[in-house]
Amino acid sequence: MTTDAARAPGPARGQVDRISVAVPVALDHPFTYSVPEGMPRPMPGSRVLVPLGPRTLVGVVRPAPADDSVASDKLRPILEDLDGDAPALSDPVLRLCEWIAEYYVAPIGEAYRLALPGLLTHADARIATLTDSGRSVLGAGGPLLAGGPLPTGPQRRVLDAIAAAPGSGLPVAKLTRLRPRIASALTVLGQCEAAGWCVTEWSDPEGEGPRTESHFRRTELLRGTGAVEDKIKELVGRSKQRRAILDLLESRADEDDGWIPMSELRAPFPRARTLLPPLVRANLVATCERPLRTDPFEGGASAPVEPQTPTDEQAAALATLGEALERGGFCSALLQGVTGSGKTEVYLQLIAKARERGQGAIVLVPEIALTPQLAERFAARFGEQVAVLHSALTPRQRLDAWQLIARGERPIVIGARSAIFAPVPNLGVVVVDEEHDPSFKQEEGVRYHARDVALVRAQRGGGLVVLGSATPSLETYARAQQGKHVWLELKTRPTPRPLPDVELVPLSVHRPDPESLLTARLLEALDKTVTAGEQAILFLNRRGFTTSLVCTDCGSMQRCPDCSAPSMTYHLSRGRLMCHLCGHIEAAPKTCRDCGSEALEHGGVGTERVEVALANALPGVRVLRLDRDAARGRRLLSTLASFRRGEADVLVGTQMLSKGHDFPGVTLVGILQGDHGLALPDPRAGERTFQLLTQVAGRAGRGERPGRVLVQAWAVGHPAIVHAAEHDFTGFATDELARREQLGNPPHGHLALVRVSGLDAAQVRARVQRLARFAIGAAKIVADRHPDDDPEAVPMLAALGPVPSPIERINRRTRHQILLRARERGPLRWLLSELRPHLGQDGTGARQTLAMVDVDPQSLL
Ligand code: ADP
Ligand code: ZN
Ligand code: ZN
Repeated sequence: MTTDAARAPGPARGQVDRISVAVPVALDHPFTYSVPEGMPRPMPGSRVLVPLGPRTLVGVVRPAPADDSVASDKLRPILEDLDGDAPALSDPVLRLCEWIAEYYVAPIGEAYRLALPGLLTHADARIATLTDSGRSVLGAGGPLLAGGPLPTGPQRRVLDAIAAAPGSGLPVAKLTRLRPRIASALTVLGQCEAAGWCVTEWSDPEGEGPRTESHFRRTELLRGTGAVEDKIKELVGRSKQRRAILDLLESRADEDDGWIPMSELRAPFPRARTLLPPLVRANLVATCERPLRTDPFEGGASAPVEPQTPTDEQAAALATLGEALERGGFCSALLQGVTGSGKTEVYLQLIAKARERGQGAIVLVPEIALTPQLAERFAARFGEQVAVLHSALTPRQRLDAWQLIARGERPIVIGARSAIFAPVPNLGVVVVDEEHDPSFKQEEGVRYHARDVALVRAQRGGGLVVLGSATPSLETYARAQQGKHVWLELKTRPTPRPLPDVELVPLSVHRPDPESLLTARLLEALDKTVTAGEQAILFLNRRGFTTSLVCTDCGSMQRCPDCSAPSMTYHLSRGRLMCHLCGHIEAAPKTCRDCGSEALEHGGVGTERVEVALANALPGVRVLRLDRDAARGRRLLSTLASFRRGEADVLVGTQMLSKGHDFPGVTLVGILQGDHGLALPDPRAGERTFQLLTQVAGRAGRGERPGRVLVQAWAVGHPAIVHAAEHDFTGFATDELARREQLGNPPHGHLALVRVSGLDAAQVRARVQRLARFAIGAAKIVADRHPDDDPEAVPMLAALGPVPSPIERINRRTRHQILLRARERGPLRWLLSELRPHLGQDGTGARQTLAMVDVDPQSLL
């Protein structure tokens, strides 16, 4: 946390010292503040308290020089240097944030916010206590104090409030909520601190008593009676979110003991803290305080598991990577090998080497909850050295972990994409496991790709990056081909297990049962498997009972009123229609909204419906279901464990099943609609389908018995499906790269998506047209500079559109977009920097529009 740079002295007399501060707001420019006289200049990476309008915020001092075009007397001074000699952000992380803001065209303050645990960015997460001098100015009332300044009225009120707080001090959050209000309470607090009357501290986690968390449960007050229905209508009528949270609690009322911790509710409902109290007051929801749930990955109690003797291929990979580590400096490698080929063992032994050299490591995984086994293996090998950052951590736990990591007490960090910002000192190795996984791309806020950020972090800081996958992304594959990544392959599994046989079942020949989507062929295979006492997995990339309710008289589909999504999902167990884009939930209608007919039928099939149909077709078969609706948090882990123990014959699930679970008893995998994703208007549709099929197929035959995969699909001739059936990654990559080259799509070209959204469709269209004219003009300037270009070739820079987004409306907001495509990065970067000042919010109220850029988009929906 410290840097070698000595702290610069204050400015010469009469000069104003200015610093550039990244303030956590969505405005796309840095803010310049002055350093008050007498305050040592804060170091880059330090958090400083700054005024912004009426607010007081926690910003971070940037390494960049401050803008000196602003007149000195216009500058506001920073209020406080919160970190002093130990800046919160180390130099490598600082520079990473600067790069992210630039490359992803993101507001600088938002980029910095990625790197700090939430609690460290809230000015009011501090605790204030009085100093002796503070007590004496209060107690003595003034005159007795020799010469010192006296508190002003507001300052006295602040000090009084602190004095009135119980022994451990006053949480600053309370200060800002005092009634009657103290104007600019935080500023006044800063003044009191500067005068030496009080101190503020980020509360010390160790110093806290037993930690508890609010838990919530749906009460017995059930639906159906008139009074309760009225109450619900009154409370949740206007708030979709509130209804949804009530639904969630209701659906889980009989699970475990029904108490759900706040931390779990806040993942799907960030506003849970305001949504819940009215429900509690109305007695629809009960609440209690319980000790914090212990971290499922905490402890590392299991004995360290000894390293395996590497196979020849593993030894060769380890030798190459070990040399790179010895040499120091940046190096990146692709470790390509099918599931079970021993990649994780290579990561473990490589990290052990880094530890011997005193270096730390970060391991990025797609989604911790889905890959508990990987985290467990690291914990088993390295015990106490491992910090697992997962989504169920409370803000407090996250801060604890962050501080342990920053102090070097947890040199190995495992986590999903945001773990790439972990403050690991002396970072030697970054592993990105399943590097092709789409979840490494953040799809909201700052749209960064954790794999690419990992490469940049290592490039700047001189570390080794290992990208592991059975089906590398084509970007990574192409770079390996060009020699930009060291290319390591694991071709044979250490415990030889043949790859499963894959049989394609053309749906045009074998008609699926409309109820369940199961063909007779798959049903027969299932029957045989179960009869033989083996297990099967059925995979469907959709959730819910069906994907929609369709009217058989007029053909209309019941759509979400706020989105243009093709359909809403009908959930049998809750008798509701739910929109998976915006969370809108409504009771399933009895009649068609367009023509009033009662002939509503279920169109499409979801996991829930397959589960029901299966129980009818194969009586006595024990079926479990796994998707985001059926499985959250602990329930997910317990469903997986139960299936692994053989307590069910068939597991029906969505793509959650494709991740690294290991089920020794599974010998059959059925994929109900292998070509489902191919129809999406997305340049990566083929790649995603190939990856998904390969990974799901990898679930078969991991135990003693050989496995078998049945893929049902209409488009059985599509290259993604044919190559997946043949386990032929190279064939697929070769075909797909040729196709991308023709179109100029990545990795042969570079994309950025400009999207405009807003409540007012006309405003959105007008703005996107202005941006498109600008972009098309810029593309023309570039074309004019390359007069010799082959007119047939992909242009150097092109702006395509504007067009309505494939999902034209989400949550009432209309969306339009422009696709920018460039043969080289340079012209695209230039155009983005020209566009940058025209992005962000525009207009006010209902006419407001938002324009943003998604650089290297993973999806164009
Ligand atoms: P991947 O990460 O590629 O899926 P793993 O590292 O998990 O592969 O290895 C698959 C299985 O093979 C694991 O059960 C692991 O313990 C075992 N294994 C890996 N390397 C060796 C080895 N050198 N000798 C024996 N078993 C090994
Ligand atoms: Zn109708
Ligand atoms: Zn919706």
